[in-house]
Amino acid sequence: MKIGISSCLLGNKVRYDGQHKLDRFLRDELGDFVDWVPLCPEMECGLPVPREAMRLVGDDPESPRLMTNKTFQDKTGQMESYISEKLEELEREGLRGFIFKAKSPTSGMRGVKIYTEAGMPSRRGSGIFAREFMKRFPNIPVEDEGRLHDPGIRENFIEKIYVYDRWLNYLNEDKSISGLMKFHAQHKYLMMSHSPAMLKEVGKLVAATDKKNLDQKLKTYEEKLINILNLKTTVKKHVNVLQHIMGYFKKQLNPDEKQELLDIIDKYHRELIPIVVPLVLLQHYARKYKETYLLEQWYLHPHPDELKLRNHV
Ligand code: SF4
Repeated sequence: MKIGISSCLLGNKVRYDGQHKLDRFLRDELGDFVDWVPLCPEMECGLPVPREAMRLVGDDPESPRLMTNKTFQDKTGQMESYISEKLEELEREGLRGFIFKAKSPTSGMRGVKIYTEAGMPSRRGSGIFAREFMKRFPNIPVEDEGRLHDPGIRENFIEKIYVYDRWLNYLNEDKSISGLMKFHAQHKYLMMSHSPAMLKEVGKLVAATDKKNLDQKLKTYEEKLINILNLKTTVKKHVNVLQHIMGYFKKQLNPDEKQELLDIIDKYHRELIPIVVPLVLLQHYARKYKETYLLEQWYLHPHPDELKLRNHV
């Protein structure tokens, strides 16, 4: 799975001051499961290392200029030519996600300071490269390294890149109606953990898909899938899903086992334990009672256990 990343986050000394911004989780942990596609727009557009620091300047947050801080050189044109070529190249990479360096006038996704001509910070927007990337690839999951320090955002983002990867693999290798139904069925509880209402909506879309409208429905499905994944999961939504899954074992569990499971879900609800605890028990029962439909649910194993993402949410 190829994931784009701001090169300085992998420890490459490409920043204006000749330094890096290594993120150990990304390089040493997530890096075991993805193929990084590192890039540094400032260096790759021809600027040296080290170089004069830059900032965004202008009144319109959609089109600020990229200016050097001290000598006021305008590097916007140089950066824009690089970006249009680079985005063509990235189109062919088949990226499943992108992780940007926060706050950079080039790579920052959001909240980057934009200055007035007089040098006062007045607005906030996206870095030049990040903005164009998101415009060109609106469905590719993106996040910035700063926000990824939040365990919930980190878990959501990594879940999203895995879903997107499976979706693109389905489009590239299968693209049948039965494949769409299978994809949808296997993501049912994962989508429910984001939005039960939107899950119903996309369910109707799948049911209305036939050979004639397949291409158009797949396009809509992808948009809706990304919208669902962009909605935050909450403890309450997860509890709802856990209770639905528990319903599969109504007949098999004895009263003690049921009570134990209910107590564990309740402890999670009160945020005394992480979600991994009820999930491990549910996975155990799914295996024990050979509930194939549940065993195929990506909700129960959305990303590698080694990343320990659900130990902290
Ligand atoms: S933030 Fe982006 S442009 Fe700046 S050094 Fe890192 S990769 Fe290069």
